Amino acid sequence: MQTILEKLAIKPINFGTSTGLNAWASEGELLSSFSPVDNQLIAKVTQTTFEDYQQVITTAKSAFTTWRNIPAPRRGEIVRQMGEAFRVNKSELGKLVSYEMGKSLQEGLGEVQEIIDICDFAVGLSRQLYGLTMHSERPEHRMYEQYHPLGIVGIISAFNFPVAVWSWNAMLALVCGDVCVWKPSEKTPLTAIACQNIITAVLRNNQIPEGVSSIITGNYQVGEWLTADTRIPLISATGSTRMGKIVGATVATRMGKSLLELGGNNAIIITPNADLSIAIPAVVFGAVGTAGQRCTSTRRLIIHESIYETVKERLVKAYKQLRIGNPLDENNHVGPLIDTKAVEAYQSAIEAVKQEGGTMLVVSEVLYGEGYESGCYVKPCIAEVKPDFRIVKHETFAPILYLMSYSTVEEAIVIQNDVPQGLSSSIFTLDMREAELFLSVNGSDCGIANVNIGTSGAEIGGAFGGEKETGGGRESGSDAWKVYMRRQTNTINYGKQLPLAQGIKFNI
Ligand code: NAD
Repeated sequence: MQTILEKLAIKPINFGTSTGLNAWASEGELLSSFSPVDNQLIAKVTQTTFEDYQQVITTAKSAFTTWRNIPAPRRGEIVRQMGEAFRVNKSELGKLVSYEMGKSLQEGLGEVQEIIDICDFAVGLSRQLYGLTMHSERPEHRMYEQYHPLGIVGIISAFNFPVAVWSWNAMLALVCGDVCVWKPSEKTPLTAIACQNIITAVLRNNQIPEGVSSIITGNYQVGEWLTADTRIPLISATGSTRMGKIVGATVATRMGKSLLELGGNNAIIITPNADLSIAIPAVVFGAVGTAGQRCTSTRRLIIHESIYETVKERLVKAYKQLRIGNPLDENNHVGPLIDTKAVEAYQSAIEAVKQEGGTMLVVSEVLYGEGYESGCYVKPCIAEVKPDFRIVKHETFAPILYLMSYSTVEEAIVIQNDVPQGLSSSIFTLDMREAELFLSVNGSDCGIANVNIGTSGAEIGGAFGGEKETGGGRESGSDAWKVYMRRQTNTINYGKQLPLAQGIKFNI
């Protein structure tokens, strides 16, 4: 791990909290990053002080005046170079993601691949920041709209996708002409510093002034400086619904814009017409992948009563084959939870299931002993529940799968929608009517609705996000870029008269 830290220019004690250039960062409190894999201290970084924070924002503001004047395709070229730099560093950064966050090596590498993919997407986008033209109702007038950058985009990110979520925001914001200030999760500061170091080298090679991309490290209080700061027109925050409610309210008070990507409580409906040979692996991957710590993890399974017993038996059998252990070992399916607090949340959710009358089909267990010294490894479990249990409406960030049965597809859709969250959903069916109903206005109320694929593993090309308590934001592909820009409608009169809109006469 030490050689990886060196290759990614992360020093054991890193004072580079501002822009990676270490120009002014003073000695703040230390933030320790422990690996949930083996509980080893990986490194310590300094928390950004309030004085450093002020300097970061002043520098970002000044960098914006340069960056916004660089033509968008040229900004795209710089983002293309960033994508190349991530290609070169993919293996090391992927390993660090896996070790610091605890997800499997394949998933760690997959996250870096997402950065590379969004860079490619952003390069193309840099020539496609289109506005519309409209026909004016007035003679000799022309009307059109254009998009201008906003300024500083504050990015607050969660521990579970420590680098990909930042890149979805940052790469689009950068081609749009914005500058970015990133506050990563205090649980995964090292992967963030590695990303900052990688793109700082590219920015320097292109003689771009300091401040186009900055990083500030620390806990929620550092995030609060961003959300309250009137110099930051857009806050993109990814994390729990609890955090999003606070951030959304603070940003709204100052009339800023917020993009919220919050918790999910994702369900799969399995109908009697499902192909179980693809449904079962999709459920298992969705429920235990990243140890149930994806915002899109499958948490609820709504199964038709006629196939309930069959699905249950096949799942119980599949769970027996799961190997739990060091995520860097590719033979293991399930790695650790992020910390022992997450283990406590797993245990109290199981308690709540039992208290409400649920039955454990695959029992829960916290693992100890050789290979499990960190105390963060838990057994993925399955519980039989009723849809109206309070715990079933709650997102527990752990590998707990709730099974429930239904008799009509309409009832299944009601169960699927009857939770406060609205991120991802899917139906497994070969019946066209069931699939189309699920996707229709009477179907899933989520931001993501899939047919014959699971709830997790979205592609960057689509807009990503969800409704209700998931926050309503959209990131990544499609036209998600528009949130990083301000729209301006322009009307030009090239005639010699001054006709007013709506035919209004005003004679003087
Ligand atoms: P969290 O809410 O504890 O922390 C997320 C980030 O918010 C951290 O950087 C934290 O320091 C910051 N923060 C917390 N309180 C804040 C405040 N009051 N003001 C400003 N910043 C504050 O979440 P977590 O445990 O890191 O991540 C897990 C959660 O994230 C889950 O609920 C998961 O569903 C969600 N998530 C959602 C998406 C999505 O796209 N919808 C993606 C990833 C994770």
